[in-house]
Amino acid sequence: MRPDILNPLFVETDALEGVGPKLKKPLEKLGLGRVRDIAYHLPERFVTRRPVDNLDEASVGEQIVIALTPVEHKAARNNRGPYRVLAQDTPGNICALTYFGRASYTAKKLLPVGEKRWVAGRLDEYGQMLQIVHPDHVVEDGGDTLARLCEPVYALSEGLTQPKVAGLVEQALEKLPTLPEWIESAQFDKQQWPGWSDALKLAHKGEHEAARNRLAYDELFANSLALMLVRADNRRRKGQPLKGDGSIRGKLRLPFPLTGVQKRAIAEIEGDLVQDAPMLRLLQGDVGAGKTVVALEAMLVANEARTQAALLAPTEILARQHYDTLRAMAAPTGVEIALLTGRDKGRARESILMGLMDGSIDIVVGTHAIFQDSVSYKDLALVVIDEQHRFGVAQRLQLAGKGRRTPHALAMTATPIPRTLTLAHYGEMDVSRLDEMPPGRQPIDTRVISQDRLAEVVDGVGRRIASGRQAYWVCPMVRENESEDIAAAEARHAGLKERFGDDVVLVHGQLKPELKDAAMERFARGEAKLLVATTVIEVGVDVPAATLMVIEQAERFGLAQLHQLRGRVGRGAEKSTCLLLRGSALSETGRERLALMRETQDGFRLAEEDLRLRGGGELLGTRQSGDTPFRIATLEQIADFLPQAHDDARLLMERDGGLTGDRGEAARILLYLFERDWGVQLLRGG
Ligand code: ADP
Ligand code: MG
Repeated sequence: MRPDILNPLFVETDALEGVGPKLKKPLEKLGLGRVRDIAYHLPERFVTRRPVDNLDEASVGEQIVIALTPVEHKAARNNRGPYRVLAQDTPGNICALTYFGRASYTAKKLLPVGEKRWVAGRLDEYGQMLQIVHPDHVVEDGGDTLARLCEPVYALSEGLTQPKVAGLVEQALEKLPTLPEWIESAQFDKQQWPGWSDALKLAHKGEHEAARNRLAYDELFANSLALMLVRADNRRRKGQPLKGDGSIRGKLRLPFPLTGVQKRAIAEIEGDLVQDAPMLRLLQGDVGAGKTVVALEAMLVANEARTQAALLAPTEILARQHYDTLRAMAAPTGVEIALLTGRDKGRARESILMGLMDGSIDIVVGTHAIFQDSVSYKDLALVVIDEQHRFGVAQRLQLAGKGRRTPHALAMTATPIPRTLTLAHYGEMDVSRLDEMPPGRQPIDTRVISQDRLAEVVDGVGRRIASGRQAYWVCPMVRENESEDIAAAEARHAGLKERFGDDVVLVHGQLKPELKDAAMERFARGEAKLLVATTVIEVGVDVPAATLMVIEQAERFGLAQLHQLRGRVGRGAEKSTCLLLRGSALSETGRERLALMRETQDGFRLAEEDLRLRGGGELLGTRQSGDTPFRIATLEQIADFLPQAHDDARLLMERDGGLTGDRGEAARILLYLFERDWGVQLLRGG
């Protein structure tokens, strides 16, 4: 249970003054559901403003403080239009103070015509007119105070303003309890970090590197510690040593020799399986690297040891694909393979359940349905989890309860992760990397094309379809706002459908799973020729006849993501093409990034370069550390402090693995604070 001392932080935001149903929504949109989240909603940056007497002294884009006198209010022409207050510094020298949405009501009161007001905000240009959109401050007097302010700038969502958020943060900070220090004193002194609550307060007040670093370190330390607790728990568990004798694998007739890296991975897995402690291994390999056959070999080892194996796929369609592939590969061995998904009902399902119980089924492939309570196994000893990043640690732990003893676990992922981040994601697992492709892979012809040439691209898609091939079309990520992405995808889908008719299907994140599966299946079966999608194209889907990938506004995606998307094509014998459409205003890094996509198909290299190039933070959602498990630590801080945090966590585990000493107790609090409490929960069992 969560320590009581944290309770004030884990109540919902309406515990704060001024938060009602209206404000909860925009807060939740930012992921701010509880007081804790508000306290950790750190400013994106800080702003100081220059006082100017006259608009002519200021330049567009500058943060200024200026005295202005409203001369006219112009109401919005429609619901979505802006409300403008025209104001001047000297007669005729006009600037518009512009408000959208509900904010316009306040504008009416704040800016009476003819009365001078101090206005602070960022000077912009709108057509020929100077304007300040949603001024940060409008006050009757105190212009010099405004000019001295160093103010936090917070990420907002619609319905929130800077002062509103700042007010909530202030309240949240007042509720901070006094927590015991979890950082080891030598480390703490060496870095000259502030204590936890001081660090939070300082981080909201100004550029305070030490404070920010300490908060990031906390998060990294919590993560490392939790992963180590999982690992330690795993070591204590009783597994089932599996020794294969080669009797089944000897009957395999693979159409290709295994690559060196595949052999190495299989040997590593065999080495784990003979141990008493259950295996906890990640098989990391780019799309097409050949993970399936490695998984098959592992499962056959389990069968040779007269136990059962299960392969868990994230979706039904992927489960079916795996089932078909494995059956074809394993046919000569005579092992019994079954498919079990949520869709199976009645007799068919009953007979599979029987087979799992009496042991006549050796390998089952399926979705999470294979772990429902109603499913029991004769002797399940190995679980393979495909695309593991979809399964959190919590779910993995749930699996552990299935076998009589804890089954061995092999997770597979195609997501290339830079080496520095592997520790953060998979610190509790051993990793096997397939970092060499099977021979004879055709490189994907990758081209960067201006978005202006959209019509030509559509023609190209038409030719591809006419020749019996299939294509993917990935729509632009408009912003972090999912509904806008979907609107864009729907519009594109409608346009392409007009041209290509019912051959076009659409898939996006808000589609009901059945509809999504149905669309994916039509495409997988070749009935649909063009799949329009937001970025949610199923990982791992294998459609060899799809030979063209179009990605709109490619510069907005991370390299790793582009690489994953591109990996959907090039799966057949035929040459495939990837067209990266770029917007007109391409930055230097944007250019460099897309050039790299042309240059290399090595996912690991792209992941490393991505990390290097992302420093600038111009990509959507990656300013912090988008695809890491962290909300506070930036990529830079991860690089700077993760190794240390990891070592410190290990040291603590060595000294006090049960977390019962003073520092251990403090660390428990930290785990709850960062919601890594699954780590603590394992302790009780042990
Ligand atoms: P992924 O790692 O993406 O799951 P797959 O296991 O689906 O990759 O393998 C991709 C393709 O490569 C499959 O068609 C598979 O048969 C083939 N393949 C796997 N291993 C080899 C190999 N050693 N030599 C040649 N082809 C291979
Ligand atoms: Mg695969």
